[in-house]
Amino acid sequence: MKIALFLVFALVGFAQQYDLILKGGTVIDPKNGVNATRDVAILNGKIAAVSASLPATAAKKTIDVSGLFVTPGLVDIHVHVFWGPKHAVIADGDISVQPDAVGFRAGVTTMVDAGTSGWRDFADFRRRVIDTSKTRVLAMINIVGVGMLSEDDAVDQNQFDMNPAMVAQTAAKNADVVVAIKTAHWRQMNFISVEKAVEAGNLANLPVMVDFGYFEKSYQTMVTDKLRPGDISTHFYRFPAPLIDKDGHAAEYLLAARKRGVKFDVGHGGGSFHFPVAEPLVKQGFWPDSISTDLHSSSVNGAMIDMLNVMSKFLAMGVPLLEVIRESTTNPATEMRRPELGQIGVGAEADIAVLRMEKGKFGYVDVRGGRIEGSQRLGCEMTVRAGKIVFDFNGRAGVPWREGKIEYPKR
Ligand SMILES: [Zn+2]
Repeated sequence: MKIALFLVFALVGFAQQYDLILKGGTVIDPKNGVNATRDVAILNGKIAAVSASLPATAAKKTIDVSGLFVTPGLVDIHVHVFWGPKHAVIADGDISVQPDAVGFRAGVTTMVDAGTSGWRDFADFRRRVIDTSKTRVLAMINIVGVGMLSEDDAVDQNQFDMNPAMVAQTAAKNADVVVAIKTAHWRQMNFISVEKAVEAGNLANLPVMVDFGYFEKSYQTMVTDKLRPGDISTHFYRFPAPLIDKDGHAAEYLLAARKRGVKFDVGHGGGSFHFPVAEPLVKQGFWPDSISTDLHSSSVNGAMIDMLNVMSKFLAMGVPLLEVIRESTTNPATEMRRPELGQIGVGAEADIAVLRMEKGKFGYVDVRGGRIEGSQRLGCEMTVRAGKIVFDFNGRAGVPWREGKIEYPKR
């Protein structure tokens, strides 16, 4: 009898070898070449199996996600999340938002703060935000020592607060979370901030992301002569960059820069995405290397909204779903030299987005109110971060309360 009981327990224990199975969804994992119906099993926060069929009884919890897309957790490499007082006086660096409050509901599990902190306040950013968020927050350090302050780009012009050696030192000390160097809002007709950022990038062996102020004439020089292979130009689809030649084609120098390894990132934001630039480039196949939001409190309620809305804009312009997912997962992860992220191969940390594709008539606007229509819109059904369900739009992980399995407070 005792042996029989032991056998039963052993079998049950063996049967429930996983913590969670997401069953029957269409897995799109560009890095691992998967685009098919698959069951995904999670154990101890890691992907334990991706298989054509796993028994529903093999996990403590199995959730039916048929009819939905299962993708790696989205990787947004241009956000501003240094929220709360900065330098004790400024509220929310560059109008930052709380990462967990806005990312999970859009399937985002990894965010890269794009230079809201500089080397002078990075320790504060790390202690208050990076180390306390459920979202995986990585960081680019601003080449300006004080980082970004809200609505005040005078500090961005202070070349005397650009210290590549201190930036590189801070990056080395925090190599587990610092992935790049950032320069932004430079409004002078020279490349001082870019050159200083590249100098820091060389010292730290990290890529540089550049959001370059007045780049009408100088943009070509920047992507041709200043940026190294692997460096990233964000706010790509915006005026007044001369990206399109007089015949309406992508400028020759852009193709050459891309061939050389310069990366082009969306960084939509509140003022940096224009359809008259984006649509012709995208229709010619000049797709972004990475899709990102430039998330802050002014862009979330504007034309940007969230990562899925920006991704849906690219669907509406004709980029295939597989490529849109690639540009929002493995591509940005690889740009940040974290190729283990943005994919759901066995052994990877279990960061997953479960997405629905809505069909209908939808509108998408750029930052000037220019509109296009689309027949598809991505929405987030569920987000899993390190194996834990952190967003569950339709309560799929719940159980009917009338079954009496939930413990409620006594009346
Ligand atoms: Zn930004």
